[in-house]
Amino acid sequence: MRQSYLVFGQPLIEQPEIDEVLACLRSAWLGTGPRAAEFERRIAAYKGVPHAVGLNSCTAGLHLGCLVLGLGQGDEVITTPMTFCASVNAIVHAGATPVLADVDPVTMNIDPEQVRRRITPRTRAILPVHFAGRACDMDALMSIAKEHDLRVIEDCAHAIETEYRGQKAGAIGDLGVLSFYSTKNIVTGEGGMVLTRDPDLAKRTKMMGLHGMSADAWKRFTDDGYKHYDVEEVGFKYNLMDLQAAIGMHQITRIEAYWQRRLVIWNRYLREFADLPIGLPAPWPANERHALHLFTILVDERRCGISRDEMLMRLHRQNIGTGVHYRAIPGMSVYQRRYGWRADDCPHAKTIGDRTLSLPLSAKLTDDDVGDVINAVKQALGA
Ligand SMILES: *Cc1c(COP(=O)(O)O)cnc(C)c1O
Repeated sequence: MRQSYLVFGQPLIEQPEIDEVLACLRSAWLGTGPRAAEFERRIAAYKGVPHAVGLNSCTAGLHLGCLVLGLGQGDEVITTPMTFCASVNAIVHAGATPVLADVDPVTMNIDPEQVRRRITPRTRAILPVHFAGRACDMDALMSIAKEHDLRVIEDCAHAIETEYRGQKAGAIGDLGVLSFYSTKNIVTGEGGMVLTRDPDLAKRTKMMGLHGMSADAWKRFTDDGYKHYDVEEVGFKYNLMDLQAAIGMHQITRIEAYWQRRLVIWNRYLREFADLPIGLPAPWPANERHALHLFTILVDERRCGISRDEMLMRLHRQNIGTGVHYRAIPGMSVYQRRYGWRADDCPHAKTIGDRTLSLPLSAKLTDDDVGDVINAVKQALGA
């Protein structure tokens, strides 16, 4: 058994970001400033979008995204039950009503046919999540959106590298929102970014992310001298700090190397687990790029002889940290109280949510770490 505990989702932090954080501290400019602007430029260039607005989380970006698209009271937004609660909470915070459309059991992404069935006269938007880094069926979702005049917000928390038929995830809908939370493919500790082709949406997102003020703090405190500002709307305090951007602006330069490293781990898992009685991630079409954010296995008690939760415990006792992405949203008590949802409302999501388990897949893993995970999985299954 391995000596030290393998923490799930640990990021790889390298010398350039360590140096940049120190330089940022020494510059005494910690808040939103030149490093945040540089990080935004680098992400926009990577994603091929004209506008990127740095924020302190993806959750903040999803919330502002709903607001700047005019979603609110009485509006319904269709999203997936196989996501982190933040996707749903953002809709609720905007004052709109979340509506769930079940996932496809193979891709684990929102099923466009289910979306169609959930459309009512009050539907205003779709909020798809590229689950685990696999692209949603965006052609089908965009055509539904066009037909019904719906806005589309792509939750790209798993999907920085994701591409769909030649298009980058996050650049297909009206808005795309990235996360740089500590477990994501590139990190800033906490952080997020909104991507858009629309300059007005970008401007509004930026303004609403900094109190609704007409000029951001960077402009107010440069050596151009003090300038008065107006407060045009009641906004939020969601801006990204330079201290965070100092990490991200170097992480983005290594995004391809990290992806290649995760691909090696991914393929090793696939080879080693091919004969085990567990479910493995489905292959994806050649004209898509998977972001390889989560390697999820399915533990079906009838096939494996142990439940997912027993598997979690056995891996934990072997010093392997794992994650669960996700227990299906309708099973969460707050939504049951508010919306009357029942745990089995979305049967495919429920089936996945009861069986899924995410294995470590960070670029930080050594070959020995990966070997330890493989051995622990095999042992847990008595293989
Ligand atoms: C992590 C995550 C979020 C929230 O990201 P934060 O940056 O932590 O706010 C939203 N949606 C999905 C699918 C996520 O995995």
